[in-house]
Amino acid sequence: MDKRSEILRELERLYSGAKPALKFKTPYELLVAVILSAQCTDERVNKVTEVLFGEHNTPETMLHLSQEELEKYIFSCGFYRNKAAHILSASQDIVQKFGGQVPDNLEDLQSLAGVGRKTANVVYAVAFGGDAIAVDTHVFRVANRTELAVGNTPEKVEEGLMRVIPKKKWSEAHHWLIWHGRKVCHSQKPDCAHCTLAPWCPSAFRTGK
Ligand code: SF4
Repeated sequence: MDKRSEILRELERLYSGAKPALKFKTPYELLVAVILSAQCTDERVNKVTEVLFGEHNTPETMLHLSQEELEKYIFSCGFYRNKAAHILSASQDIVQKFGGQVPDNLEDLQSLAGVGRKTANVVYAVAFGGDAIAVDTHVFRVANRTELAVGNTPEKVEEGLMRVIPKKKWSEAHHWLIWHGRKVCHSQKPDCAHCTLAPWCPSAFRTGK
């Protein structure tokens, strides 16, 4: 078995059945949570959405809020002005173009104002069970360090991962890489000494120092 296959097999063993840490009950709640999660921890997002979704968990009720009112709810997530604008414009598109329902395909998801490729991929995979690999900061780092997929943009890493991972595992593998990035392969100090991928990882004991 080659190194990449060994790494994938070990990741699956470690994180089989891993679920997203963001809390949500509907595709719309997931969409809003993913927009809020950029540059923010999932724990913080969950605290904010617990309050926000108590009153505004549909595109229609979200649009009852002004930009300034929404900013007050989400202030602690950072980049709150942009995030509020994205949530409101996506909500408007969902109401006006999709009858109030979050679209269930990648093309329409990406057409929503304020929704980028990564967000669309997460919603498509997690809310609708679609085959997609969303490349966030953890996926990007772990894929490059392990050389599962090497690239200097999220798009290149996504393409590389899609080549080495069987399609039916794409959405699951996205969670393996996220959890490994969170728990072991940290951005500043990867814990290579305790990482069971080390025997096959080209960056073991050579990065983040
Ligand atoms: S061996 Fe080190 S660099 Fe490689 S995946 Fe593990 S923690 Fe990350």
